[in-house]
Amino acid sequence: MLEIRKELESIKEKGLFRNIKYLNQPQDTQTKIGNKDVLLLASNNYLSLANDERLKRAACAAIEDYGVGSGGSQLTTGSYAIHKQLEEKIAAFKDTEASIIYNTGYMANVGTIQAMADKNSIIFSDELNHASIIDGCRLSGAEVIVYKHCDSRDLENKLKKYSKPHSLIVTDGVFSMDGDLAPLDVISELAEKYACYLMVDDAHATGILGAQGTGTAEYFNIKDKVDIQLGTLSKSLGAEGGFVAGKQELIAYLKNKARSFIFSTSLSPVILAAALQAVEIVEAEPWRREILLENAAWFTDQLDKLGFIVKKNNPPTPIIPLLVGEASKAASFSKLLFEEGIFIPAIRPPSVPEGYSRLRISLMTNHTREQLQEALEKLNLLGKKLRVI
Ligand SMILES: *Cc1c(COP(=O)(O)O)cnc(C)c1O
Repeated sequence: MLEIRKELESIKEKGLFRNIKYLNQPQDTQTKIGNKDVLLLASNNYLSLANDERLKRAACAAIEDYGVGSGGSQLTTGSYAIHKQLEEKIAAFKDTEASIIYNTGYMANVGTIQAMADKNSIIFSDELNHASIIDGCRLSGAEVIVYKHCDSRDLENKLKKYSKPHSLIVTDGVFSMDGDLAPLDVISELAEKYACYLMVDDAHATGILGAQGTGTAEYFNIKDKVDIQLGTLSKSLGAEGGFVAGKQELIAYLKNKARSFIFSTSLSPVILAAALQAVEIVEAEPWRREILLENAAWFTDQLDKLGFIVKKNNPPTPIIPLLVGEASKAASFSKLLFEEGIFIPAIRPPSVPEGYSRLRISLMTNHTREQLQEALEKLNLLGKKLRVI
């Protein structure tokens, strides 16, 4: 057994101990933590929908219609008309036959991967895939072959050597800590060539990439080649939950097999109503993602000009990783920024590899150029003070 006190001490010694900061205002560009007003520069509320009046009204109306808690899992008493409505909406949005709603993106990954593979299966997984993918792979008991980040050549070598029909290739669409895209055009061809299922986690691309904002499959024009399209309702859609979109057969299977779906009380109709409204807004207001991505490209350029080590993603995504290196230095940078009224938590191991600690900046539609300019000035001053630049 691990000894709690010893383990805690070891976490602290490594500079990895985390204190949680509690917001007492909505998730918006300007918010309040304790008594401190801060510019929020690290939220996944990319499209600024979490505090949108229309989402709030939809949630309130759902309380009147359905009450608050859902009272059961979706297979027992916890499925409401609005679950079905949202499933159909997501399927239409993603241009697939059907969809399934999980309580979180995390649960969607864990449940789906566990349902797709067992100890006789082989899963090919990008080395920088999200923790929920990794956990799903582990839970499935399958043999997991990890390929180099976004390296389709390494993937093909490994497919040649290890694959058998119905193996699973799984990758983030947009990587959560780097904001770069998987080379899905090539990966989808490999999936076809080696008769593998292809699963893409679009937690950070849903609502953001592609002409209609439906994600990376649309961006690469390979919508019919991704068997399992996973997304969250909790990031750009400003609500909460996860989903998988795909063929009718897949969805029916997952509803009967995915344990995180079967053994957990379903999401409240309140949050589903908000998510439904959010999908409609994404369809109707493409300017939200356009402004966001324009600002992201501009902000990345400005950071680069100041001398920061920053990843220039093409296409731009809302995620802008500013590399610091040492965990303790990233923590100091974040702390000083906070004192100056800017909130960007440091991302440290185990979220990123040792030596790759960073400030993971992310933008929201509602950020103004004035806010971003102010942030740049403070980043510049503190970056010099800490010798990050
Ligand atoms: C955030 C995230 C998830 C988990 O989604 P939640 O809805 O927050 O549980 C899954 N995959 C990736 C790539 C993510 O970034």
